Amino acid sequence: MYENRTVEEVCREFSVDLRTGLSAAEVEVRQRHYGENELREAPPRSLIVRIGAQLCDSLIFVLFAAAGISLLLGEYGDAGVILAVVVLNATVGVIQEGKAEKALESLKRMTQLEAVVIREGKEREIAARELVPGDLVVLDAGRQVPADLRLTETAEMRAEESALTGESRAVEKNSHFLAAGALPVAERKNETFMTSYVTAGRGKGIVIATGMNTEVGRIASLIREAPEEETPLQKRLSDLGKLLSILTIGLCVLLFALAVWQKRDVMEMLLTAISLAVAAVPEGLPTTVTIVLALGVTKMARAGTIVRRLPSVETLGAVSVVCSDKTGTLTKNEMTVTTCYVNRQEYTEQELARSKEREVGKRLLEVFALCSDAGETVGDATERALYGFCENCGVSPEHLRRRYPRKGEIPFDSDRKRMTTVHEQGENWISCVKGAPDVILKRCRYEMEEDKIVPLTRERRTEIETEITRMSARALRVLAGAYRELQTGKMPDGKWEKQVGQLEQNLVFLGLAGMMDPPREAAAGAVEAFRRASVRTVMITGDHADTALAIARQLGIAKRREECMTGAQLETLDEGALEERIGSVSVFARVSPEHKVRIVRALKRAGCVTAMTGDGVNDAPALKSADIGIAMGKGGTDVARQAADMILTDDNFATIERAIEEGRGIYENIRKSILFLLSSNLGEILTMFAAVAIGIPAPLGAGHILWINLITDSLPALALGMDGNDRENLMRQPPRRTGESLFAGGGWFCMVFYGSLIAAVTLGAFFSRQELLRAQTYAFTVLGLSELFHAVGMRSLTGSAFSRSLGKNPLMLAAVLVGILMQVAVTEIPFLMKLLHTVRLRPAEWLALLLLSATPLLVHELLAFLFRKRH
Ligand code: ATP
Repeated sequence: MYENRTVEEVCREFSVDLRTGLSAAEVEVRQRHYGENELREAPPRSLIVRIGAQLCDSLIFVLFAAAGISLLLGEYGDAGVILAVVVLNATVGVIQEGKAEKALESLKRMTQLEAVVIREGKEREIAARELVPGDLVVLDAGRQVPADLRLTETAEMRAEESALTGESRAVEKNSHFLAAGALPVAERKNETFMTSYVTAGRGKGIVIATGMNTEVGRIASLIREAPEEETPLQKRLSDLGKLLSILTIGLCVLLFALAVWQKRDVMEMLLTAISLAVAAVPEGLPTTVTIVLALGVTKMARAGTIVRRLPSVETLGAVSVVCSDKTGTLTKNEMTVTTCYVNRQEYTEQELARSKEREVGKRLLEVFALCSDAGETVGDATERALYGFCENCGVSPEHLRRRYPRKGEIPFDSDRKRMTTVHEQGENWISCVKGAPDVILKRCRYEMEEDKIVPLTRERRTEIETEITRMSARALRVLAGAYRELQTGKMPDGKWEKQVGQLEQNLVFLGLAGMMDPPREAAAGAVEAFRRASVRTVMITGDHADTALAIARQLGIAKRREECMTGAQLETLDEGALEERIGSVSVFARVSPEHKVRIVRALKRAGCVTAMTGDGVNDAPALKSADIGIAMGKGGTDVARQAADMILTDDNFATIERAIEEGRGIYENIRKSILFLLSSNLGEILTMFAAVAIGIPAPLGAGHILWINLITDSLPALALGMDGNDRENLMRQPPRRTGESLFAGGGWFCMVFYGSLIAAVTLGAFFSRQELLRAQTYAFTVLGLSELFHAVGMRSLTGSAFSRSLGKNPLMLAAVLVGILMQVAVTEIPFLMKLLHTVRLRPAEWLALLLLSATPLLVHELLAFLFRKRH
C-alpha cells in the first residue's frame, strides 16, 4: 500500500517525526483506537464443548449402555454409580486439561516478542504487542519484524519473508526504493512485514499496519495455530494403550464367556465385565503424560528455561553431549579491556591514557570508537568494552562519530570475524577495521610506528603473532584494529559488501586490545555435575584457540592442548575423519556457525544426543539440527529463538544443567506414574479373572470397580507424575538411551509383580470371610487401599519411598487421604452402602484390612532395602 509513497508522505500520513517518533500521549490514543498488535487466535472452547469432548469416547458410550442395561434390570444403584463415575471422570478430565492448557498458555506469554522503538526521541525496548501505526521501529540482524513497516532507513538490510511469500532466501531491502504503482508483497523492497526476520544489516521503519490488519493477519489460515504435535513418548504410549486396550477387552470378553459357561448371572457379569474393561483400559495414559509434561515445563520456566516444544522435555533427559558457546554462556559476557599492545609495547589502560599523545595509540582508539555500534550501555559486550576503554583513555566516541560521520559499513558477523566502517575525514575517506587479530593481521601490509607508516615485515608479523598467543593464553579476548585511507573518487555508494577488496586489504596495523571476560561462577560446578552424569561438555567458540583453552581449563572442560580443534583444522577433515575425532575434542575454537552444523552431525553419527546453544542468525541451522537447540533469552536473536527447542532466560550454562536434571526427573515421574497405573489395572484384572477361573463368586461388583478406578486413577497417578526426585541420584546415572522402552530396567517386573501382589491381597481378604457381602466389602476395601499404598511406594522405583518426605508431595498426601476417606464413606454412609452393596466394618476389621493393604508398600520398602545393600 505504501510502496509507491515517499518516506515524507508516509510520515505525514501517520503524523510522525522521524527524529523523535510518537509521543506517549499519541501512543495512548492510537492504542485505544487500533487495539493490541496481535494476531487473534481461535476463540477458546466453551465448557460444554470441553465436557462433550471428554464424553465422546467409545468406552464412555459402553458405560452409558451399561447404565441403560442396569436401569432396565431395575438395578438403580449400579446405574447411579456408573453415571456418577462418568460425570466425575469427565469433570476431572476437564480440570486436568484446563490445567495443562493454562500452563502452556503462560509459557507462550513468556516467549512474547519485543521490539525496539523510538518514542519521544528515545530508543527503548517494548513488548511488540504495544506497537501502534506510526511507531518508529528499529531493526537489526536477527530480529523478527514486529509489524508491517515502511522502511525509512536501511543499511545492507536483508529479510527472510518465507512465512508470507514462500521464498526461503533472504531478500534485499532498500528504503530508497519507490514503486510506480501497487506491487505484490514479495516485490515491495521498501516494506517489511510482521513475522519475517532481518537476516543481515540494519534498518528503521514506520509501522503501517498492526495486528489483524497486517499482511499475515489477512491470511487467515496462517493464524490458526499449528496442531500440538505428539511427543515420541505420547506416540509410543498411544500405541501401547491401543495394544493394552485390545488385550484388556479380549480378556473381559473371555471373562464374560467363562462366566456364562459357568451359568453365572449373565446380566450381572456383563455389567462387571464392561466395568472392568472401562477401569482397566489405560485410555488416559497420553493425557497423563501431557499434564505431567505441561506442568513440568511450567516449573522449568520458573527456573530459567522456556521449553518451546513439549517433546524436547523427553529428549532433554537423554542428552549425552552439551555443546555450549563460550561468550556469555560459560563466561559472564562482562568484558573489560585490561591491556593493549601498540608500538611494540603492552600498556595498561592508565598507561595508555598517559601516552595518548602518541599518534598510534590515538589512532587505535579512534578505530575502536568509530568502527562500533555500541554506546555506554547498548550494543554487544565486546564493543561496549572498547567504548569504555576509549572513554577511560580520554577519547570520546560520540564526539568522534559526529566529527567523522559514517558513510558506509560492512557489519560484523561471526563468519567474517571482523567489521568495517567507512568515514569521511576532510578530503579523504578512511576505512576502519576491527576484528579477530589473526584475521586482521592477514589483511595488513603496513603498520604504524610512532606516527609513521612502515611496511609490516615478516619478523614483525611473527612478533605480533607471538603477542596474540601470549595475550590469548591469559584467557583474554584479543581484538585488532587497523585502517586504510581510501581514494575518494572511486567510492561506490551502497553495496559496501562488494568492496571488501578495497576496504579491507592492504591495511595499516595499529595494535591489539585484550579484554577479560571472567567465567561464570556456577559454570565449573555444572561441568562437574555433567561429568558425574556421564554428559560431556564441549565448548564451541569463535574466539582464539588459546583464549578458549585457557577458559576451558578454568572450567574443567579440557586439560590438554590435543583436546582443542580449530575451525581451520576442522576444515581439513572429511565427515568420516571428523566423526572419528569428535569423541576426543572438547574445545572447538575459531569456528564459524557452519562448522557448528558439521559438529552436531558428527556427534549425532557417533551416537550422541546433542544439546547445542546458539544466539546469532547464522546459528539457526545448527540449532535446528541439534537434538535440543538452546537459544539465549537475553543476548540471542529472535531468529535463534525461533529455531530453538528451548530458551535460557538467563543465558547461563548452569541453567542447562538444571534443565537436563528436570528433564530426567520428568521422564522418571512419567515412568513411575505409568507403571503405577498399569500395575494397578493388572491387579484388578487378575483379581476378577482368578475368581472366575476358580469358580468362586465375583469378589467385586461393577460399581466397586468403577469406584476404585475413580479414586486411584486420577489423583495418585498425577501426584506421582509431579513428585520430586532424588537430584543426586538422577544426576549420577548415565543418560537414558533414546528409544529406550518405558519397561526397561525392571519395568515389566515391577508391573507384573505388584499387579499380582495386589490381586493376591485382595483375594486373600475375600477368602477370609464366608458371608458374601462382607467378603466383597473386604475385597473392595483392600483393593482400593492397596492401590493407594502402592502409589506411595512407587515414589521411588529402586529406593525407599520415604527418602523424600511425603510432606513434600502434598498432592500425594491429599490423594491418599481423599482415597481413604472415600473408602470409609462407602462403608459408613448408608446411602452409599446401599448403592455399592457394602456392609459396615468394625474398627478392628478396619485395622486388619489397612495392614493387609499396606503389603505392597511394605514389600517395596523391603526390596528397596535389599537393593541398597547390594549396591
Ligand atoms: P561464542 O561463539 O562463544 O559466543 P564469540 O562471541 O567469541 O564466541 P563471535 O562473536 O563469533 O564468537 O566472535 C568471533 C571473533 O570475532 C571474536 O573472537 C573476536 O575476535 C571477533 N569479534 C567479536 N565481536 C566483534 C565485533 N563486534 N567487531 C569485530 N570483531 C569482533
